[in-house]
Amino acid sequence: MPDLITHTFAAYLLTRTASQRSFRYLFYLGTILPDILSRPIYILAPRWYAYTIAIHTPVFIALTIFLLSEWFAADLRALARKALFLGATLHFSLDIMQRHLGGGYLWLYPFSWRTFELGWFGPEATVGWVPVWIGLVVVIEARLHLKK
Ligand SMILES: [Zn+2]
Repeated sequence: MPDLITHTFAAYLLTRTASQRSFRYLFYLGTILPDILSRPIYILAPRWYAYTIAIHTPVFIALTIFLLSEWFAADLRALARKALFLGATLHFSLDIMQRHLGGGYLWLYPFSWRTFELGWFGPEATVGWVPVWIGLVVVIEARLHLKK
């Protein structure tokens, strides 16, 4: 996985001009949702990996989004579902670009255990770029606020 800051930075770039603040924040949440659900379990209980590997899959995240969005007020439900789904789609779009030494993500689980990746960069390759992403956000936000 690219790190959460890289995921969030990509979400920031895509939603920066979105006028609806709630859409933007839910998009951010959708962007990090697969990792914030799966990583703590992978880290705290690595022996359960074979049983928890399905958490970081499109089907599991889609089901989670449908359940999660039901907790929103009726007038926000469709927006929450859409923003979370689009954010998660961005997340998986970045994840599929990387290469793993071992098995990759199970994109088609539970229909298939096959995995595939584009192999453009390693899982830790984006960490070195985090200061750049943060600096770019600061510069972009400063310019936007100075114009006002
Ligand atoms: Zn991920």
